[in-house]
Amino acid sequence: MVDRVVSQHLEVAAHDVGRILKDHEKVAKLVSSVGSPLLLDLSPSSPAFDDRDWSDTEATHAYLDRELGLDRARIGFIPPGSVVVSGLPTISVGESLASVFPGLRVFAPEGSLVCWPHSESVVESITSDCLIMRPVDDSPYVALKGVSTSLKAGDSVSRGHRLGIVSHDSGDRLFGSQIAIAPILGGEDPFDLLTAEGYATRKEAIHTWFNRLDVGPLPTPMRSPEILERRDRRLARSQRAYFTNPPAFVRAKGVWMYDEYGNCYLDTINNVTHVGHSHPRIARAAFGQLSRLNTNSRFLYPGLAEYADRLVATLPHPLEVVFFVCTGSEANDLALRISRQVTGRRDVVILDGAYHGNTTAVMEISPNRYKGSGGRGKPSTTHELETPNRYRGSYGYDHPTAGQEYARDADAIIRELSQSDRHPAAFIAESLMGTAGNIVLPDGYLKGVFASARQQGALCIADEVQVGAGRFGTHFWGFEDQGVVPDIVTMGKPIGNGHPMAAVVTSREVAQEFDDGVKYFNTFAGNPVSCAIGLEVLNVIREEDLQENALVVGQYLITGLRQLMDRHPLIGDVRGKGLYIGIELVRDRVSREPARSEAYAVTEALLRAGVVSYPTGQYDNVLKIKPPLVFRSSHADIFIDALDHALSLIEGTTG
Ligand code: PMP
Repeated sequence: MVDRVVSQHLEVAAHDVGRILKDHEKVAKLVSSVGSPLLLDLSPSSPAFDDRDWSDTEATHAYLDRELGLDRARIGFIPPGSVVVSGLPTISVGESLASVFPGLRVFAPEGSLVCWPHSESVVESITSDCLIMRPVDDSPYVALKGVSTSLKAGDSVSRGHRLGIVSHDSGDRLFGSQIAIAPILGGEDPFDLLTAEGYATRKEAIHTWFNRLDVGPLPTPMRSPEILERRDRRLARSQRAYFTNPPAFVRAKGVWMYDEYGNCYLDTINNVTHVGHSHPRIARAAFGQLSRLNTNSRFLYPGLAEYADRLVATLPHPLEVVFFVCTGSEANDLALRISRQVTGRRDVVILDGAYHGNTTAVMEISPNRYKGSGGRGKPSTTHELETPNRYRGSYGYDHPTAGQEYARDADAIIRELSQSDRHPAAFIAESLMGTAGNIVLPDGYLKGVFASARQQGALCIADEVQVGAGRFGTHFWGFEDQGVVPDIVTMGKPIGNGHPMAAVVTSREVAQEFDDGVKYFNTFAGNPVSCAIGLEVLNVIREEDLQENALVVGQYLITGLRQLMDRHPLIGDVRGKGLYIGIELVRDRVSREPARSEAYAVTEALLRAGVVSYPTGQYDNVLKIKPPLVFRSSHADIFIDALDHALSLIEGTTG
């Protein structure tokens, strides 16, 4: 037995020696067969930075140890044009980070042989850390680092000949022993990190040069323009990307997003990543459950029962029966189906400007789509109430009982429907209108409309897909702020922190009336992974006091933004609840002409200053501010400063 173990061990050792020798052979051809060594990645999307960020040099060490072996016996390389990040990420104000390495780096054990990959060349100069070679043809001079050589200035070498060995002394201490090679194309140090723009101007020359080396084809990372071009080639035109020249975000943490070059941006719009981007507890919950079991809700597992209980515990009586679905659209689609089946009617009352999702049924109750470009107009079963918008609607901020007035007008429409034999099945509304332009419902509004709708036998649906789960600050669900309890509530986006999950919750009475024997099954909804994630999202909201944070930081942000109004005539209105805030831009505060193009220009300027935001609303002139709930007042300060600057630029008050 012992013998067997020992002999196995020896076999492994022999295999390792063989492999190492083989790798050394490759080094001998470094330069003739770089294709076979390991491709390394120290860019922001590298797994090196999944657990620790790149300001921690240990992250790089640990990754290289993992990939190349603790003894760094394997050979790895980073191709030219790769991004290599280190140091503290900082928000880029107008300037992009210099992070692109223009040369080829090869990691190899100390003492590995290095051969000359270029055509015949003469040693131009040798210093302790750099060898400069002059090709005899007219091609650019070449710089090499990390090579210990016995060559002297004036010696000549031809392709494939021994140049020297990889020397630890001249290698970078952080990375271990490595060599780097690059053409000298301009006056600057050929190993200086370049900005994206700087690299773009040299890219072709650098690639042409490397293609002529005897190193085989070098991979080229896909960059944002190519991603955009390929994305647009494959995706239907209706699926547009944000921004004119969108950055490719490859990593995000908390409220920060990082592009492919390591530039850092403050995120003010991703309410889906509710408890923060890449929250480690959510990642662990997802990965743990995914590693253990993932089935569907017809199987038995404790997570489903536990999550359903926990979700119901966040809701008022009598909302207690849950249907799990995967998207907000599915949730609203099912809520519609329930209402129609329970009431035996088809007509639906909605708010003008609303968006409730993308299925055929919910598109028909989404004026934001059926009235928008390419829309087919309002179906006869859909009935619009005026958007209760205190900035633009019939009853303004100066009206003390705007909520009741809007509700009274709604009542007239709902009564009229019944009189003309179009009894409504449902009234559906968000508790704060998101896509319609971050419109805060006036106090008392939903109370009035719910009463009218119920009087006519309709069910009331609260769409919390966008605004729910603690974002309001004062309450966990937005409808609570209006003092109402819906018959059906739909939720989505934030409850999964980016994992596709959504739910419909209703009363036992409604659920029983809906239960006509037709099965409801949804393959992915409420699966063990979704439940694990959903539970952890609820835990994190509570344990990190995120609802309270939304309240405190939301108020702080609104106050700061309202102060900006003194300096910036473009801001017509600032409104919101907790961390769901709208900044409406207008060309003129009296006419309130929507400043649509200006809003886009402001968000482009903000992006250049390292802040992600975007316009929304009926006129695309409202900046939507709905960041992850870990947005603190220090982040609010950064945003206010950046917005101040962007508005000055667009208003022409700064150069
Ligand atoms: N309801 C509201 C209020 C929404 O804002 C959205 C999405 N923007 C939806 C429903 C649809 O959700 P999903 O995109 O997850 O289908």
